Amino acid sequence: MNNIQISKNFKLREFQCRDGNFQVRLDARLLKKLQELRDRIGRPIIINSGYRTVEYNKKIGGSPNSQHILGRAADIVIPPLKPREIAEIAESIGFGGIGIYENFVHVDVRDKRARWKG
Ligand SMILES: [Zn+2]
Repeated sequence: MNNIQISKNFKLREFQCRDGNFQVRLDARLLKKLQELRDRIGRPIIINSGYRTVEYNKKIGGSPNSQHILGRAADIVIPPLKPREIAEIAESIGFGGIGIYENFVHVDVRDKRARWKG
């Protein structure tokens, strides 16, 4: 299920909610920018969390207004890059929101600009 190539380097299932639900919301702008990031860095992007159902987001303590619920956000790692290095390149690609955490980077395509450290 969802084993569908949706861009050069991403399959739909990579964006699926981690609760096992097969319904996925995915903003085309997020996919486009993640592929740009992938092309720029030349290394595989691991999506820890893409789309989240409202229930799952609540369960893991996500913000009620999370961009993940809208299919507009991804929490990513790109070994061996450090979160700060990933964020720097994400900055040049023009993501709306960029959050730097200890072990991953949150990127999203919200309309307003947001930057934070988790
Ligand atoms: Zn996130």
